[in-house]
Amino acid sequence: MDLYSGKINKLIEELSALPGIGNKSASRLAFYLVNEPREHVERLTAAITDARQNVRFCRECFTLTDEELCPVCSSEKRDHSTIMVVENSRDLAAYEKTGRYMGVYHVLHGAISPMLGIGPDDIKLKELMARLSRGDVSEVIIATNSSLEGETTAMYISKLIKPTGIKTTRIATGVPVGGDLENIDEVTLLRALDGRTEL
Ligand code: ZN
Repeated sequence: MDLYSGKINKLIEELSALPGIGNKSASRLAFYLVNEPREHVERLTAAITDARQNVRFCRECFTLTDEELCPVCSSEKRDHSTIMVVENSRDLAAYEKTGRYMGVYHVLHGAISPMLGIGPDDIKLKELMARLSRGDVSEVIIATNSSLEGETTAMYISKLIKPTGIKTTRIATGVPVGGDLENIDEVTLLRALDGRTEL
């Protein structure tokens, strides 16, 4: 016999499949939701559906955006000859929050990890090389995390770019090892950017 109604069980099951949500939080959320006013729950589900249906990759840098071109790529105030390579859209947001970086980005959506079976073809690397082949880029700043995966990815990218002659730099290791860029304060991020070294 089910402890709760089958529908609540189903809701708990779906919620606990979300990252960072264990069984306990999932049942707390489920009971919260079924007790909320209907309009509130409808707004929430509509927001989820709308985001899932309408958020897409920027045609240029592959960050998540509502438009064909993200606000950074479509801005004329940005330096389109400098590309910062980051692992995900949250890292991009962390650098954008500093308000000091004036170049554009390239979002890989992951990092190379032999252990997890993630290879170069599983991240947006071909797309980066296609951008570089257009010949209007003067510097690529590799800002992947300082985790093992991030370093492996940085090394791989720099080897790939070397033959093109484009200047390739790596952000300084002021960033704590294994640290997600989004959790690092702005001062540390800027120091890492200013202290970047040529590969
Ligand atoms: Zn973009």
